[in-house]
Formats: sequence, C-alpha cells, structure tokens
Amino acid sequence: MSRFLRGTRARLVILLVLLGAAVLLTFVLERKQETDADARTRMTLVIDPGHGGIDSGAVGADGTRESDINLAIGLKLRALAELYGQDNTLIRQDDSTKCDTDAYSEHRDLECRTELVQAQQNPVYISIHQNDYPTAQPSGSQVIYAAGEGSAELGTITHANLLQNLYPSSRRVAEPATRRLYILSHLDCPAILIECGFVSNPTDLENLKKPGYQTTLAATIMGSYLQYMQNTVRI
Ligand SMILES: [Zn+2]
Repeated sequence: MSRFLRGTRARLVILLVLLGAAVLLTFVLERKQETDADARTRMTLVIDPGHGGIDSGAVGADGTRESDINLAIGLKLRALAELYGQDNTLIRQDDSTKCDTDAYSEHRDLECRTELVQAQQNPVYISIHQNDYPTAQPSGSQVIYAAGEGSAELGTITHANLLQNLYPSSRRVAEPATRRLYILSHLDCPAILIECGFVSNPTDLENLKKPGYQTTLAATIMGSYLQYMQNTVRI
C-alpha cells in the first residue's frame, strides 16, 4: 500500500472515531438532560399516618386507637407506592410521635411533620385520619384539601373514588381545609387529609379494623394518586 493510501485510511479512521465520539457525546448529553428533567418533575408521595405514640387520636368504643388504624393504612399505602414505582416517604413507620422530645407538644409534632414534608422534592401530601363524632350515626369518608395548587383536584378525585368504592350512598363532598388544620394551612404543595371513616360508628369501626378493608382504602387512595398524577401529566 502506498504512503498516500495509508495516510488517507488513517485520516478516515480518525474521522470515523471523532464522528462516533461526537454521536456518543450527543447521546450522553441528551440522556443527562432527560434525567435532570425527570429529577426536577419527579413527585414524592408523602404519606402521613396521623397521631402516634402518646397521641392516640380518637378512640373507638372498644378501645381501638385511631393512630393504630392510621398507621396500618399508611403502611399498606406505602407498600402500594413501592409496587407502582412511586417515590414516597412515610412520615412515621411505627407507633411514635414525629418529634423525639421528652415533653410531647401537639403543636411541635405538627410543625415537625410540616417541616418534613417541605424538605421533600415536589411533595404530594396525603394525611390519613379517622373521624369521630359524639353520636354513633355519622359514617363514611371525608376528604379535606389544602389551598395549594392541585390540592382541590387530588382531594376531589380521592373523595369521589372512596365514596364510589366504599360508601356509594353518601352525598358528602370534598371540602376545603380551615385554618384550624395546621399542616394543610402551612403547605403550598398538593395536600389533602383523608378521614377514612368514623371510629364512633360501630360498622365503620369494625371495617376499619379489618386488614382487607384497610387494603381497599389504601388501594383506592393509591389509584386516586395515580389518576391525579396522570391528569397533571406527571407520569
Ligand atoms: Zn385524627
């Protein structure tokens, strides 16, 4: 092979290598931009089983603690979030209050929970509670939503699904939160509080204690979250 041909081939190889490197670099940069964009838009489902530890919340006629029902549903909801590949945080994973202080303060506990939500990336906050009433008659779910963008939509979807699946005869509607609810009134992110049922209603209380019923509640909440995410083009 002549020196001219060897030189031409060498230049061709170098050109191809440079071209390949440029294509690879473009691909890598595009993938990085996509990953950065994904990271920015990725939402974190923040699950907050209300009360805990010294704060039992409402107590049923048989001594069932609201805080225990809230935790059972929260754990099931977290398992479903994992199953569906949704980023999530569970605010408490056991029977404890959020702040480890010697002197329990409800206000400080609510502050701690609020700060934890605010520390998450693009949080969507779902608080789980049970309702209580002086008489046994009221029953069913009630969703309350915050003022932040997306809250009313998430609350309305969740409330409608809970009623459709569990309380089809209920005429209750999702309601905006009052300032009395500390966490909801201090969050700007999509945020709702779900009163799953009444511990003061005997039928509700029996249902709320059943693992199968708790799973139905968790699955309905998870389905509502996914529906909300799809509506807002985030998944
Ligand atoms: Zn409560």
